[in-house]
Amino acid sequence: MSKKILSINSGSSSLKFKLYKMPDEQVLASGQVDRIGIENSTFNYKINDKTTETLRPIKNHDEAIKAVINMLLTSGVIANKNEIAGVGHRVSHGGSYYPESVLVDKDVKKRIDELSVLSPLHNPVNLIGIQDFEKLLPSAKEVAVFDTSFHQTMPEESYMYALPYEYYEKYGIRRYGFHGPSHEYVSLKANELFGNEKTRRVISCHLGNGSSLCAIKDGKSVNTSMGFTPLAGLVMGSRLGDIDPEILPFIESKLGMDSHEVLEMLNKKSGLLGLSGVSSDVRDVEKAANNGNARAEMALKVFVHQIQHYIGAYASDIGGLDTLIFTAGIGEHSWTMRSAICKKLAYLGVKIDEEKNKQSALSIEAKDSKVKVAVIPTDEEIMIARDVMRVAGFN
Ligand code: ADP
Repeated sequence: MSKKILSINSGSSSLKFKLYKMPDEQVLASGQVDRIGIENSTFNYKINDKTTETLRPIKNHDEAIKAVINMLLTSGVIANKNEIAGVGHRVSHGGSYYPESVLVDKDVKKRIDELSVLSPLHNPVNLIGIQDFEKLLPSAKEVAVFDTSFHQTMPEESYMYALPYEYYEKYGIRRYGFHGPSHEYVSLKANELFGNEKTRRVISCHLGNGSSLCAIKDGKSVNTSMGFTPLAGLVMGSRLGDIDPEILPFIESKLGMDSHEVLEMLNKKSGLLGLSGVSSDVRDVEKAANNGNARAEMALKVFVHQIQHYIGAYASDIGGLDTLIFTAGIGEHSWTMRSAICKKLAYLGVKIDEEKNKQSALSIEAKDSKVKVAVIPTDEEIMIARDVMRVAGFN
């Protein structure tokens, strides 16, 4: 029987949603509340290809959720709240507890709360979303879908840091990885497109504001570039990625910064923004580089180098490469970045067709490429809705 399932993805000041008719995977309504708790909050939504944009004060996530439900009711997408059979929440950090999505209960909420120390920007708002929906839609099944779950298949040698072992035992300090639903979605899609033989050894490049790479063998994550938190790995929009840890106490003492200030700098003032001094957005940095800005050019070189470096490491982890996938804002739209990255991978047998690449075609490899190269728009929301159907027993 068909069910209406809501996918919720809440960030620190935003809330994205999609309402599906499942199992058909038909989108009934979608939208986004932005600038929650900040001046000029916006609430934009789309129903039947008609987009509505509104500007109104939305003080907190509670108000944002009520606005979404009211809109669904007044627009007639649902006749009453109880039509929504399930709500899936993207939750940032599930620690080592959740290799799969789970039905929310008291213990799950307690764990999400405890894990807030590892994801202070996201876990608390994810929990607020869960609690609000419990109150608003008491008859709906609530499912938590963790960013970390897909990576729980990583072997020890990928996830252990060489710290004293008790740090792992007592405090759970290890690599967790993020963007799980995205890496899983694109790898499943590649498998559908190219079949098992061509997708045994896959590297997925999720390149957005936050970026991560994932090495996938026979459909399972075996390594990923984000770590204990989403700050590790690649150079990102404003996050630095990997660093020599000694630099941190050095900066603290040199600049008299406390660890809170240092973290703020590493998250918000580093990456492409810090290197280029121009912007965290690849489009702006590329424009500046094209206009002769040497720092912008250098920032892009570092960005590409880091990705190429990880791809080499991951190809070695999975014993070669059958399919390379690009996804998320940069991966899906920037043909120049894809081109720059792929040029460095000729030694792996990667060769792209530049015309197809410029068109962001689904499959952009040249005829004589040994490796498939795919551009796959990610869809974390549908992974969430599918998990709700499975975990709530609606399938
Ligand atoms: P988030 O990680 O916030 O979900 P997205 O996946 O939407 O981010 O990616 C956003 C980034 O994608 C932007 O900051 C920008 O750098 C990049 N981007 C989007 N469109 C383009 C484009 N046409 N060309 C180059 N980069 C783009």
